[in-house]
Amino acid sequence: MSDLEDLKRKFKGDIVTPSDAGYADAIARWATNAVRRARIVAYVRDAADVGAALRYARAHGLPLAVHGGGHSASGASSVAGGLVVDLARFLGGVRVDAQARRAYVGGGARWGAVDAACAAHGLAVVGATVSHTGVGGLTVAGGYGWLTPTHGLTIDSLVGATVVAADGVAHTASESENPGLLWGIRGGGCNLGVVTEFVFELRPQRRTVFCGEMIFTEEKLEAVAEAVEDWYPTAGENQVIHVTLGRGSDGNPTITLLMFYNGAEADGREAFKAFSDLGPVMDLRREMTYEMSNSFMDTSFPAGQCHWSKGVAAVDATRIMTRRVFDKIMELSAPGTPMDHVTLTIEYMSQAKVNSVPSAATAFVRNRPGLGNASVQVVWDADTPELTAAARHIADEIARAVQAGELRRGGRCAESEASPERADRFARARALFGANYPRMQRLKRRYDPEIIFDKWFVVEPSE
Ligand SMILES: Cc1cc2nc3c(=O)[nH]c(=O)nc-3n(C[C@H](O)[C@H](O)[C@H](O)COP(=O)(O)OP(=O)(O)OC[C@H]3O[C@@H](n4cnc5c(N)ncnc54)[C@H](O)[C@@H]3O)c2cc1C
Repeated sequence: MSDLEDLKRKFKGDIVTPSDAGYADAIARWATNAVRRARIVAYVRDAADVGAALRYARAHGLPLAVHGGGHSASGASSVAGGLVVDLARFLGGVRVDAQARRAYVGGGARWGAVDAACAAHGLAVVGATVSHTGVGGLTVAGGYGWLTPTHGLTIDSLVGATVVAADGVAHTASESENPGLLWGIRGGGCNLGVVTEFVFELRPQRRTVFCGEMIFTEEKLEAVAEAVEDWYPTAGENQVIHVTLGRGSDGNPTITLLMFYNGAEADGREAFKAFSDLGPVMDLRREMTYEMSNSFMDTSFPAGQCHWSKGVAAVDATRIMTRRVFDKIMELSAPGTPMDHVTLTIEYMSQAKVNSVPSAATAFVRNRPGLGNASVQVVWDADTPELTAAARHIADEIARAVQAGELRRGGRCAESEASPERADRFARARALFGANYPRMQRLKRRYDPEIIFDKWFVVEPSE
């Protein structure tokens, strides 16, 4: 019997190889340019399956990837010629213990499932604003959502996890058991192991919120920037605005404000009155359920296209939402260019809650530069080296045009920038984790000394 047959015999989940009918689906990813031809896709059913798959990969020298929701555009959950531990098929469940205010979430779950299960009890946790995003990748990176100004990052509500380390052994991580491991997966990426279950603390959440888009024509750019700047320092913890500069579906230059207010519609309209007074061409904001605020944009982010993103430091609105930046976006997205979509999105929300947690409390470094997340997004169809290079060039040009163009490292913004060189990745991880790097190195030495988890920001093991 071959070793693979032996693995299949012990395995409770499904094993898919290139000759199997489901192979194309097994290696598909949200971003087409993140697809890689794996040798084996192991759809795991439990922590024991993960352990068996990890041991098999190590014994056969196969490079490894872990797939949660598959939304990384950099290919961080794919591997050419290697083994993918895929959590999405069997570990996507969510169980809520309303009395204890806990959600037990499978490592391959999507945020839509979490929101729905929690909302049934009037509860919520900070999660993605697009419901098909995976819980796994978002959580181990930190996690921002509409509720961040109120409750902090997703990891600030993470109270426990089951983690399968590189040697295939499953560990419980909590404040009382392996607290160092819990510290490390709170923002440490997938350096330490495969999380088969996350345990989140839940908070009460009102049923409806006021949310939606307001669209302005380009001559309002300066006025909108000033309004954002006036509003931002006063923004309560129940308010978020995402500003997007780009072209609308008709190709016209537009400024889109995606607004979220965690409260009644009338109060939300009042809080954002300065913006309606500016005269948007369209106001699509309305009262909706909290789950809807995290899913009404799902169709705007369909799977099956190529994506490149680059993070930029978000500074004062009047310094980033400038005519120069806007014109550069228009120039690089002019009709006739091969890109479907070129945008700069800046997420304005109070960082006070996030920064109230000391940086040393989790692997995620707080007090990051800038006011919030900001990134250039480039979207196109055919996955060719020429178009990838063109997309990269466009993103670089726009980042340069952003005056304070200091590149941010880490978080969700720098995803497309993964380097194939390990030394480069070590250097980026060192910069990302800052003062937390030595502790991450010690954890890496304990849980993954041979660096089989080598995607995204890779930590070099050390004493
Ligand atoms: C449309 C869209 C909307 C988004 N919205 C938000 C948002 O509102 N807030 C936000 O903070 N981010 C957001 N993001 C960014 C998102 O958090 C990252 O892309 C994240 O990596 C997605 O996680 P995933 O599980 O789907 O990805 P995957 O591609 O499956 O994984 C990404 C990385 O995480 C690792 N990983 C995944 N699951 C596990 C696990 N269970 N255990 C260990 N490692 C794991 C993988 O190995 C890989 O390295 C969004 C992205 C997209 C494309």
